[in-house]
Amino acid sequence: MRKINIAIDGPSAAGKSSISSRLAAKYGYVHLDTGAMYRCLGLNALRSHVSDSDEDALCELLSKTDIVLYPDGRVFMNGEDVSKAIRTDEVSMLASNVSKWKNVRKEMVKRQQKMAEAKGFIMDGRDIGTVVLTDAEVKVFLTASAEARAMRRYLQNQKAGIEGHTLEELREEIEKRDAQDSGRANSPLKQAEDAVLVDSSNMTIEEVVDAISALVDRACAEETL
Ligand code: C5P
Repeated sequence: MRKINIAIDGPSAAGKSSISSRLAAKYGYVHLDTGAMYRCLGLNALRSHVSDSDEDALCELLSKTDIVLYPDGRVFMNGEDVSKAIRTDEVSMLASNVSKWKNVRKEMVKRQQKMAEAKGFIMDGRDIGTVVLTDAEVKVFLTASAEARAMRRYLQNQKAGIEGHTLEELREEIEKRDAQDSGRANSPLKQAEDAVLVDSSNMTIEEVVDAISALVDRACAEETL
């Protein structure tokens, strides 16, 4: 069976990464979490005292920011394991702030397209189906209600030992980030015309994996006809 590429887009905390890594394990594909790349730039900007409203300085910083996404989910920035450091709420918002800039996105998209030159990739983000992998054979727009997403993030934080935010605060942060990601001028978060909408509000992870697997199996079968 020939390999395909899978694009998973959607708002924050919709479960894109968990679902993508399960699908990657199931099909033997490589999962690339593109949000982690914007998070690395946000973290580096914070540490280097570069303003998230200075596009030129951010581009200059990005040119000096080496980002490696490992298949097991670890993220390295300039040789340092930042897998945990990029997951704080502060860095989430900074990632959204730096990602609105056209030239930042241009460089990120270039790197992402280079990473997924061949087939066998599952890439998740906000603009994968619309910009990065427009020829992906399967495109999914994965969403869920703000309540469901805030609850998932809350439980995830608890499990990871990240403290300090109430459910209500998380919901506000998620809604603020979604509004910013959907309202920006450059590659706003939106469903690609040829993407399949999956609303996971009332679905288990297994049900979502099964629903997307059905699309993948069909696309792979078509490929080999
Ligand atoms: O997916 P995640 O929540 O980790 O992404 C962090 C931020 O990075 C998002 O809020 C969004 O602003 C930005 N992002 C993006 N394009 C992508 C992936 C993430 O703009 N492909």
